[in-house]
Amino acid sequence: MTDIIKILPDNVANQIAAGEVVQRPASAAKELLENAIDAGATDVQLIIKDAGKTLIQVVDNGAGMSDTDARLCFERHSTSKISEAHDLFALRTFGFRGEALASIAAVAQLEMKTKRADMELATLIQIEGSEVKQHTQCSAANGTSIAVKNLFFNVPARRKFLKADATETSYIIEEFNRVALVHPEVSFSYYNNTKLVTRLEKTTLRQRINGVFGSSYGEKLIPVEEKTNVVNISGFIGKPEFARKTRGEQYFFVNNRFIKHAFLHHAVTSAYAEMIPDKSFPSYFIYLAVDPKNIDVNIHPTKTEVKFSDEKAMYAIMKSAIRKSFGSFSITPTIDFEVERSMDFSNLDTSREIKIPTIKVNPDYNPFQTTNTARPSGSYTPPKDKNLPNWEKLYDIPEAQPEIDQKFNRVEKAEADMPDEITGISFFMFAKKYILTPVKSGLMFIDIANARERICYEQLLRNMENHQPMSQGLLFPQRVVLTPSEGELLGDVLNEIRALGFDVEPFGQNTFVVNGLPTDAENQDAKDLLEHLLESYKKNQLEAHLDKKLNLARSLAKNISMKFSRNLTTEEMQSIVGELFSCTMPETSPSGKKVLFVMTGDEIEKKMR
Ligand code: ADP
Ligand code: MG
Repeated sequence: MTDIIKILPDNVANQIAAGEVVQRPASAAKELLENAIDAGATDVQLIIKDAGKTLIQVVDNGAGMSDTDARLCFERHSTSKISEAHDLFALRTFGFRGEALASIAAVAQLEMKTKRADMELATLIQIEGSEVKQHTQCSAANGTSIAVKNLFFNVPARRKFLKADATETSYIIEEFNRVALVHPEVSFSYYNNTKLVTRLEKTTLRQRINGVFGSSYGEKLIPVEEKTNVVNISGFIGKPEFARKTRGEQYFFVNNRFIKHAFLHHAVTSAYAEMIPDKSFPSYFIYLAVDPKNIDVNIHPTKTEVKFSDEKAMYAIMKSAIRKSFGSFSITPTIDFEVERSMDFSNLDTSREIKIPTIKVNPDYNPFQTTNTARPSGSYTPPKDKNLPNWEKLYDIPEAQPEIDQKFNRVEKAEADMPDEITGISFFMFAKKYILTPVKSGLMFIDIANARERICYEQLLRNMENHQPMSQGLLFPQRVVLTPSEGELLGDVLNEIRALGFDVEPFGQNTFVVNGLPTDAENQDAKDLLEHLLESYKKNQLEAHLDKKLNLARSLAKNISMKFSRNLTTEEMQSIVGELFSCTMPETSPSGKKVLFVMTGDEIEKKMR
């Protein structure tokens, strides 16, 4: 028998390796852009033709290469960035595998000019399918220019798999943006078919985001900042009202490298829970600085995935940083955050379950009140005059007073003495669903069902927190027979259900006896209510992964306030508005629906023109 194992020739091996690194023009563009940044460039140009199928060229003013390096950089595993295995754990540069140029050169016709500042002449190298066709000297500016022509010219099968020009171009632009978004200190230009499409001057991060996504984009963002000894977080997050139905701009960068991270993404979206509608997406540009030894970047060839050594801590810190930034920028007008300022994770015992830091909301805090009195419970009791929260401040605020600005973005405590009686405030009903009321900044529209959902939800949470369920005894206890799966589920959440105000006992065999129902739900049919509650609980669990208690409170609040349709008395409207504005997040319902908006005087005037 003859031996059958052969060592593959280099060009074949390179072509195989190229399959991993270069899937499409955008991957080549990404590698070239990252190399330019790694070389310390302060100005980078990307030039493409025919969606990168004909040309992808990157010109930089970085360090350049010596003549020898210029030849060596096309060898596989040639890199200036690591020399020992342990360097892998201290990486701060983009590339390190030394595979990119070798791979690109294996599947394209490539031309490189490179010159170091300390050299007279530049080096010119032409290489096709890993074969060096030319290696000479020429004159050129300091830096490096690499032109990748006719990508996949020798792998027709791959070329056939490329998508339409518009799609391939959008992938390239996305790579360009990812690099531009981490390097505001570098200027970038992007040319498509000889036309200058984008020019980004060096600037600040916020301005760079504007440069990439449009000049008014920055107004939709608030900063986020958190320093811990596990990770430093900085960047910007979208204001909840700008969340979109389509996946918008969602960027994580770890040590200046774009990454995708489903778990951290979840941390971010869960911080937005209740503030944006279901199935809509917040934008974010979040930059993480982590000690390189705490990440493993090696797990994916295209390196958009990383693994952190302590993912749970990262999750907790991320979520709390975002909530804190909502608090400091008063996205939630009246929330009273008490997030621990300096979180110290140095003594983390990683084997222990980490509890996500919670935000303590002071249930009695009322921004319109100078002295705190606990709110009366139940959404329909008209507040007594003496107890009335000073929400009427909304209507008439003396010029010099701190005020609620137009979008309710900021509410400050008014110091003035409050009138004893409300005078001159009007409430109107519309379509048995909305309350209309003139406020200082315009005409406010309130969706009653959503407002009640918010009020009821926060009331339920307070009751649970204080172990004071609000329950109404039934005249006749009701026996409820559930399906086996419902019965099992109810058994699992029985304690939480009781904390919500259900007075309910198991009675064997999926049967329960209900002696009392939560206040405000006492008129509902016990079986219907329980069934609906369990159903929305299950749904929330699948979609939102909420904590048991939050989930149940949210489900019950929704059930209690669903499909509201009747006319209210002025006292009732007044009571709802008062209750609503002592909530922590009056603007959105717990399931993320809009509760109110204000049509400003200006807007009304415009319509009259
Ligand atoms: P890696 O970036 O993983 O090291 P590459 O194949 O992308 O591998 O590049 C190989 C080497 O070529 C780099 O380590 C660097 O020394 C050099 N190089 C590549 N592009 C440039 C550039 N634009 N300017 C200067 N040096 C470069
Ligand atoms: Mg590289």
